[in-house]
Amino acid sequence: MTEVKEQVALITIFGGTGDLANRKLYPSLYHLFTKGFLKENFAVIGTARRPWTNDFFREKVVESLKGIEEEGFDPQDFASHFYYQSHDVTNRESYVQLKDLSDELDKKYELQGNRLFYLAMAPNFFGTIASRLKSEGFVDNDGFSRLIIEKPFGRDLASAQELNESLRQAFAENEIYRIDHYLGKEMIQNISVIRFANSIIESLWNNRYIDNVQVTLSETLGVEDRGRYYEESGALRDMVQNHILQIVSLLAMEPPIKLTTQEIRHEKVRALRSLRVIEGEDVYKYFVRGQYGPGTVDGEQLEGYRQAENVDPDSNTETFVAAKLMIDNFRWSGVPFYIRTGKRLAKKATQIAIQFKSVPMNLFGGQQSLAGNVLVIHIQPDEGITLHMNVKEPGQGMLTMPINLNYAHSSPDGMNTPEAYEKLIQDCLNGDATYFSHWDEVSLSWNFVDKVANVWSNTKEHFPNYTSGTMGPKEADKLVAQDGFEWFE
Ligand code: NAD
Repeated sequence: MTEVKEQVALITIFGGTGDLANRKLYPSLYHLFTKGFLKENFAVIGTARRPWTNDFFREKVVESLKGIEEEGFDPQDFASHFYYQSHDVTNRESYVQLKDLSDELDKKYELQGNRLFYLAMAPNFFGTIASRLKSEGFVDNDGFSRLIIEKPFGRDLASAQELNESLRQAFAENEIYRIDHYLGKEMIQNISVIRFANSIIESLWNNRYIDNVQVTLSETLGVEDRGRYYEESGALRDMVQNHILQIVSLLAMEPPIKLTTQEIRHEKVRALRSLRVIEGEDVYKYFVRGQYGPGTVDGEQLEGYRQAENVDPDSNTETFVAAKLMIDNFRWSGVPFYIRTGKRLAKKATQIAIQFKSVPMNLFGGQQSLAGNVLVIHIQPDEGITLHMNVKEPGQGMLTMPINLNYAHSSPDGMNTPEAYEKLIQDCLNGDATYFSHWDEVSLSWNFVDKVANVWSNTKEHFPNYTSGTMGPKEADKLVAQDGFEWFE
């Protein structure tokens, strides 16, 4: 059981009327309240431009908790800690009122000057907000000052650097928590335990026993109403630069000497530094891009990406990426890490498949081939592990049959796993940055991705090249087939 340590802080949410705040942040804070991490000594300020009153804001917060209310934890009581401040982040004057309210709540709730600023807004405002927080004295308090920011963290290395410099005017690196909600997922955090708490796994975790590793983050939804954002981003920037490279670094890193934030980050950075740089013509050998066209899914006719709102009818933006990554170090030399992610694919799943090498010869031979051993880590929607093995088929003779050993994470004690946001907000309040991205990781990832993006932006692809409801373009299958493998489904 996690020790329940009460957190004392003022949490200021910029973008308090937005989608993220409503769908994720308020429910997560309520869960922390029901679990005793937040009790009496906390307050939340929601800020946005709309002229809401405290009462109206509290009603909205209560509404966001529909269906998750817990007995004994009145949503009204929880919402009484919430305050609304109408505030245009570009207007200097409104920071004065916000500062007065912050100081008042600090006294009222005895918050010891602890402040968490959550920027749930478009990133082009981050620099302005950070410099105002500094110039208006928000961070000169006795307690901690921490900043949580959302992706996208830049759209290339240069813009990420610029953004980082603007944040660093007000916050030190160890005060900046760059959220990557995949890192808050239960089974992503489980990777370290699976690897470092099981000798049978860790001793096989290298190029002598592993054939290839596959990381799949597939979505069934299309771009929906986010066309404007997605046109600027595409799957490479939206998914590979952050979530996928973070997962790859957790899978590939060396065992840290201790499970501290600093040691784990150090090993992740080393793994990212070992990534083989792919540039120029090689991009076409190691990377495949795709864009979905129209298709029929579950009997419903769906439009293609180019027909979506705010999307260029001739768009060159990729909605799918598959790649073969190589990690050039002693442990992983020669082992491909295949990654793929995309929209409008045949199924929604996030999973990691570790494919082990075959046994030296098949003693049970004849016509029958042995299935390979695969360790699958299911991240979402299912959470758990499956180990694919071979056993004897019952009865006479020595025929083999494949079986699966399954562990479904949520079943043993019926416990629902906490939302990623809940865990990450709690970690931030606790000062634990292990599952947030360090600037060194962000900059290395951009450096890797930029080289691919540059090649792609200079050549026009024959899009669309996959049908909605399939698993992406045929070239993605060829990418693994040319090495003698296939995607693990
Ligand atoms: P949203 O458009 O729903 O909300 C934006 C908020 O910012 C609103 O409260 C709006 O009133 C406020 N705002 C805009 N301009 C302002 C100004 N000048 N002054 C004060 N307030 C202003 O956006 P969202 O979906 O909540 O996303 C917020 C951030 O989180 C974005 O960076 C987004 O990329 C990121 N994000 C969102 C999700 C999600 O699930 N919604 C997931 C991952 C990342």
